Amino acid sequence: MAAPKSWSRDRLTDDQAAAIMKAVGYKPLEPYPNSRAPWRCRCTECGEISTPRVINARMGRGCRACSRRQMLAARRVAAAAVADAFVQAAGFEPLELYPGAAAPWLCRCTGCGKTRVIRVNSARTRGLSCSACLGDRSADAA
Ligand SMILES: [Zn+2]
Ligand SMILES: [Zn+2]
Repeated sequence: MAAPKSWSRDRLTDDQAAAIMKAVGYKPLEPYPNSRAPWRCRCTECGEISTPRVINARMGRGCRACSRRQMLAARRVAAAAVADAFVQAAGFEPLELYPGAAAPWLCRCTGCGKTRVIRVNSARTRGLSCSACLGDRSADAA
């Protein structure tokens, strides 16, 4: 049995079309229209309902809400890595996950072991150092 000569873009069976959608995380909510028509699907990841097209899903394009979330998550991870490096360079060790530049962040001074709440935003402009450690060296910095 030879395969059909052109497994044409618009000649997918319902099952084939559904499999393509499933591969990028969609669950179809209505019968397959055709590969170029918007097809109501639910994202199995986040539950968002959208109307992707099979031709786009075939190129690996999945849920937009999910890809936006992944992008934001990746950005958060990158920002956290930068912040970690920043406080570590100043002699601190983060005690919790980076909460964002403006939020209080519990860290520990590796010099004296005291915990300190650091706000990365203001630490960036004012500089970051442990007053307890500074106090040990000079008389009193504050
Ligand atoms: Zn999604
Ligand atoms: Zn210290």
